[in-house]
Amino acid sequence: MASSSILSAGEAIARIAYLSSDVIVSVQPSLSTDSEFSRFLHQYATNKASSLICKGVPEVQSVRHNADPLLSVYQPVRSGKITTVTTSSNILVKSIPHLYRLAQYPVVIHVSLHPAGYPDYGDITSIRNVGFTFLQSISLQEAQDVALTAHALAIRSGKGVIHFFDGANSKSDQPIAHESRELVTKVINTDLARQYQGARSEDSSLYVSEGRPQVRNIGLSGDNARPTADGSLLHAERVSGDASPRDPSSASSSSSDRKNSSSVVSEAESATTVESQAKPVSSEDIDFICDSIWSQMRSHTGRKYSAFNYTGPANADAALFLFGSDPGLFAAEFESATQADFFRHVGLITPVLYRPWLAERLTEALPSSVKKLAVLEQVRRRTTKWGPVLLDLLMSLKASGSQQTPVIVGYQLGYLEYTTITQALSGIFQNLLSPSPIQSLEVGAHEGPKGSLNGQQKEFELSQPKLENAYMKILDQLFGQRLFIANALRSRDAGAQDTAMKASPEYGFGSLLARKEHRRRFVSEVQTVAKTRDFTTDTPQKWLSHWALAATDTTQANKLAPEVIQRLSTDGSPAAYKLLSSKGLFYKESQWLIGSDAWAYDLGNSGIHHVLASGENVNMLIVDSTPYSERAAQDAARRKKDIGLYAMNSATLTSHPWLSTALVMAYLPYNREDDNPLTVLQETKKSVDLGYWPLYRWDPKAAEKGEQAFKLDSERIKQELQEFLRRDNHMSQLMRRHPQFHANLSESYGSEVRKVQKRKAKDAYEALLEGLQGAPMTVLFASDNGNAENLAKRLGRRGKARGLKSMVMAMDDYPLEDLGNEENVVLITSTAGQGEFPQNGRNFWEGVKNGTDLDLVNVSFTVFSLGDSHYWPRKEDKHYYNKPGKDLFARLAALGGKQLVDVGLGDDQDPDGYQTGYQEWEPKLWDVLGVGNVEGLPDEPPPITNEDIKAASNFLRGTIAEGLQDESTGAISAADQQLTKFHGTYMQDDRDLRDERKAQGLEPAYSFMIRCRLPGGVATAQQWQQMDAIATNLGNETMKLTTRQTFQFHGVVKGKLKPAMQGINAALMTTIAACGDVNRNVMCSSLPELSELHRETHECAKKISDHLLPSTTAYHEIWLKDDNNKNVQVAGDAVQDFEPLYGPTYLPRKFKITIAIPPHNDTDVYAHDIGLIAIKGDDGKLQGFNLLAGGGMGVTHNMKKTYPQVGRMFGYVDKDSVHVACEKIMFVQRDNGNRQNRKHARLKYTIDDMGLDVFKAQVEELWGDKFAEPKTFHFDSNIDTFGWQKDEKGLHHFTMFIENGRIEDTADFPMKTGLREIAKVHKGEFRLTGNQHLILSNISEDQLDAMKGMLKQYKLDNTNFSALRLSSSACVAFPTCGLAMAESERYLPELITKLEGVVEEHGLRQDSIVMRMTGCPNGCARPWLAEVAFVGKAYGAYNMYLGGGYHGQRLNKLYRSSIKEEEILGIMRPLLKRYALEREEGERLGDFVVRVGMVKATREGRDFHEDTAEVEEDEE
Ligand code: SF4
Repeated sequence: MASSSILSAGEAIARIAYLSSDVIVSVQPSLSTDSEFSRFLHQYATNKASSLICKGVPEVQSVRHNADPLLSVYQPVRSGKITTVTTSSNILVKSIPHLYRLAQYPVVIHVSLHPAGYPDYGDITSIRNVGFTFLQSISLQEAQDVALTAHALAIRSGKGVIHFFDGANSKSDQPIAHESRELVTKVINTDLARQYQGARSEDSSLYVSEGRPQVRNIGLSGDNARPTADGSLLHAERVSGDASPRDPSSASSSSSDRKNSSSVVSEAESATTVESQAKPVSSEDIDFICDSIWSQMRSHTGRKYSAFNYTGPANADAALFLFGSDPGLFAAEFESATQADFFRHVGLITPVLYRPWLAERLTEALPSSVKKLAVLEQVRRRTTKWGPVLLDLLMSLKASGSQQTPVIVGYQLGYLEYTTITQALSGIFQNLLSPSPIQSLEVGAHEGPKGSLNGQQKEFELSQPKLENAYMKILDQLFGQRLFIANALRSRDAGAQDTAMKASPEYGFGSLLARKEHRRRFVSEVQTVAKTRDFTTDTPQKWLSHWALAATDTTQANKLAPEVIQRLSTDGSPAAYKLLSSKGLFYKESQWLIGSDAWAYDLGNSGIHHVLASGENVNMLIVDSTPYSERAAQDAARRKKDIGLYAMNSATLTSHPWLSTALVMAYLPYNREDDNPLTVLQETKKSVDLGYWPLYRWDPKAAEKGEQAFKLDSERIKQELQEFLRRDNHMSQLMRRHPQFHANLSESYGSEVRKVQKRKAKDAYEALLEGLQGAPMTVLFASDNGNAENLAKRLGRRGKARGLKSMVMAMDDYPLEDLGNEENVVLITSTAGQGEFPQNGRNFWEGVKNGTDLDLVNVSFTVFSLGDSHYWPRKEDKHYYNKPGKDLFARLAALGGKQLVDVGLGDDQDPDGYQTGYQEWEPKLWDVLGVGNVEGLPDEPPPITNEDIKAASNFLRGTIAEGLQDESTGAISAADQQLTKFHGTYMQDDRDLRDERKAQGLEPAYSFMIRCRLPGGVATAQQWQQMDAIATNLGNETMKLTTRQTFQFHGVVKGKLKPAMQGINAALMTTIAACGDVNRNVMCSSLPELSELHRETHECAKKISDHLLPSTTAYHEIWLKDDNNKNVQVAGDAVQDFEPLYGPTYLPRKFKITIAIPPHNDTDVYAHDIGLIAIKGDDGKLQGFNLLAGGGMGVTHNMKKTYPQVGRMFGYVDKDSVHVACEKIMFVQRDNGNRQNRKHARLKYTIDDMGLDVFKAQVEELWGDKFAEPKTFHFDSNIDTFGWQKDEKGLHHFTMFIENGRIEDTADFPMKTGLREIAKVHKGEFRLTGNQHLILSNISEDQLDAMKGMLKQYKLDNTNFSALRLSSSACVAFPTCGLAMAESERYLPELITKLEGVVEEHGLRQDSIVMRMTGCPNGCARPWLAEVAFVGKAYGAYNMYLGGGYHGQRLNKLYRSSIKEEEILGIMRPLLKRYALEREEGERLGDFVVRVGMVKATREGRDFHEDTAEVEEDEE
């Protein structure tokens, strides 16, 4: 926490609450509006400030004020968490049922009275008997001290404490110092707190039990026990003298002998009485504890507190007891009173400990000289003649037995202005001092000040979050005029003034019942009238009878209603007029109640039961906005998804007529009401995928039609849920039969089973090893990318070969409780993220780190760790290098383990990578295990490489077809994962869900990415529609337009892979060779302004693409043939393919070709294996190409042997021979590329290794021709030209901005729908650009207006973005890309938004700056050619590169490593400013940073790592 002084009571209290709690329930006006406490609480939690009580970061739970906030307290208190609530007073009365129960727990509720300045103290008096202790603070200092008192008191007494205050009272107080840690530690009894934390309550249901018994056993239990100052037990009367915290000489309070206190048990009694039951906490106990706390405070701070605070003369004649705002103002008035004032020589008394009300303390505080006492109560709505405080005082003073009790006169206190206080006090005391004072006079303005308090009240006004609009719109669209929402927020006809009340579903239900009754009466009235002859003609009778028969049938009634109304309107009789006065009732409404966390709470709890039990036909829409979290999943009381289950059960059990109603459970998870829709979608997806929110429909009537009543719509979890239901059913039966297993089965089924599984696997393995000789060796690994796993497995194999009983397991699969029984344990781990454990070792590490009962004295161990010493170049990050391995080694040693050999460190930077360190370490291990010199060891099989997989795949078949049919997993085998790339699809998993799914024991959420092959990026309108349908029906409903001008689908589950491939094929496209070690999709400039040249070049692109296609028939066999087509499905090697271009092992790595048409370098011609620069002849037609070769983007961080490269000029080649020249270059690469090291296999390295001339000569030799001298050309830029352009044929083209190529619908931008609708009428083409944007191409003059209209309608015509945004691009990265280290597509738009302000400010809005971002150094968005680039290094951290050439001709250079957003903005903002001020005419940013010396220019790939602006250090 920061160390400045404290300005407000909210802050002072928030700090104490934070220090003294495990969980803080922060009640707020809304999730997006802070309370006076929440801002501070969230800030502390964000800064990870630690609490004294929980020793870590307490959990701060934000809850809306209307959402039954105290319901959230049960779960933590029952699980032994010390819980605090910070709230305003407006929730208190509604929470009375909770308060009674919570009073039995050590819960502290800090209540800010609202509206500050003139709150209703009635909120406090109404709940005074709920069993809580009530403390009041007034000044800022008191707020801090009393807050601390409240927490200490709660812990020592075991009972709930409410601390209330009016924030306006301390508004003008001087700032105070931070609480003293020493004092807090001293006052809060952490030992007692630990006992609470260890004690879990048995209560599990809110509705079954009345809560806890009325006694506490911690601190106050025992035979006649009294607490000591710190809450421990004291078997004696209260100590007096020095030990008494009360100061007898205080002018503001007096002490008395309390030996006769009724609750104090005498010593004699205590010696002879044995009580088996703990005693309830008594008022005297509370008094005693308060005294103890205040005594400790006084000795530490000198500040004195007592139950009642008296100020004024010790011999005052009269006094004022104030239970309302601004005692300071009253005290000041009394002090400055003159002889002429009625209120001279009077005192002021206020309660600090309001409940329990201690008569004895009151009489101590009030001078005995006081003869008259005015009692001011600031209670707005008085329900009795005598105010509650007045009655308390009367009883206390009468019961005191004093001879002369003062005359007590009550007043109702309204709002007093500063200017009227004197007058008001004169009135009060004049009345008080008169011989027969009038009781219950009202003083001040009852309604409070005009206007000034409204702001606070407005904060608490309910409003419907915009996010809910989608659901409201659906209701509107479905029911139109017929829709009636009974509890609509602003409904006028509900007959109640209070908006909150009108919006409550209970109220809505009541009003709905009345409305239904009204219509029932109307129907019977119509039936009666229809039989009379009261109408002018016979027509109305006929229609009315007709209608009356159909009145309950929605369709019929609404069809007849207009006819009936029309007949009645023309009848003109009084009877007709009467019916017409309620003509709306002729229509049958669709009546709805809405439950919403934000504005209509409670339907989710008991309200739903009332509606269902009533049997009324009422529809309900219940919006659940709680995002998934483990806490939410466990909080049964708030889990609205269970309402569906409850409703189904109730209908099944009772056959209740509610079946005609609809219950719609809508999920709209958000953390704040102003969350963006994307976040909501992500949260929804997460919950659905995890099965937290299953999508289903239940229609009991369907069973009558022979259909399934229950339909599950969540495709992805269908299998899992069905399995769950099956298992669950089995479990229920088991539990019924064997009740003794109930707890075990129902409470921890998942974890129990996983434990058993782990043990069984281990036992089986041990059994297998029984017969083997030698010492046991258990090898445990934690591995994300397979290196540590492979190493562990190899070590295990080698151990076995040396006669050891070795066992290999992932750390998380190992039963940790067995670790102490092992003899030799070897742990191998790699390093993830910022020095973290890999995914499959995290639970193990947590267990080892936090385990208190692990004893490893009999265990010998060692650790080998894999990492990269250069990964974190900054000094302060160096400790991340191999951190998991080092930490593990140290911890195992600390637990008593004996070291076999020292921790081994493998470093990616070593000549052989981690193998260098490993080869030194492993022999030492064999030596120490006594198996170092074993002879005759068998040869180990070499590791399987990609080349082996390709060669053994039978021309890319592998076992893909079999894998697709395996329904037991959503994945395919590791070898097939390599092979499917050649077919255009990658397996991925949703990385957002990895942890959650792992925690649930589920496999990752696997799905597939499919990439189309679309030469030149040209698609017809028909194809666009087909792609759209595939994304919608088979993928994740979005499409990505890639940097290589093609469509990419994500989220295609295995079962839908084949239909998707067939759909693509039906659209006359393919995915073959869209990925894999082959020539990929050939790109081509989109060139909207020259259609003819584009057509010719595009044909060339297609020709090269087709020419270099692999010939395997595996693609058709696997994806395109029907499953039953036995003739085609030929197993084994019966059909031998032949690959004339590639051979059986294809290319060493991927191979990419692109064409750019000057002056546009929109395909980044320098970045590819082959770059073709189109050369236009004098006739304006395509003549040929300048050919560049050896460009490439992929790099590995900090591995200097890898680098990006720009293509080198080979020379000019004619258009008719270009496909042959490309083929020959590919051949030389095929035969010379490095097949041992995939990181060194791209063409760029082959050319650099062979030398440009040698390579080129080999190509020419194979070709039998020579490259001519390159022709002149000129590039302007590598970005797209947005907006409308007209070509030489008069056709129009519109380049639209698609941010990062993502085609999707959002709540306010229906982009995907718009493009689909356009495709339905568009007669031209869709061209995908290399910058991930889209050109609506070839629009004829007569279609132009229609197209413009549609673009406008769907907001697709907007290109009015900053040039920075228009020139940006990002790769996919999280959540689908398995290689991503940091966010990219989801983050770059945000970063640009943060920079746009500076861009505007310095007049750079129209200046294009090429900025690119990728989630890893593979470089999919070609970052190394950007003027500014960010390349992911770890989550939230990026390497920053500067100085790329504006039209993609020059590589950039590392400027900063591993920087986070703050640093990025810290660099970019001044850089943009400097660029704006100092640039030369027409100078681009990439050139500018080089000129001013921020980075050196990179001449070509091999000097990419030279002279970087940030020097990387070599050693730790
Ligand atoms: S650059 Fe890296 S993170 Fe981005 S899509 Fe390519 S492989 Fe994935």
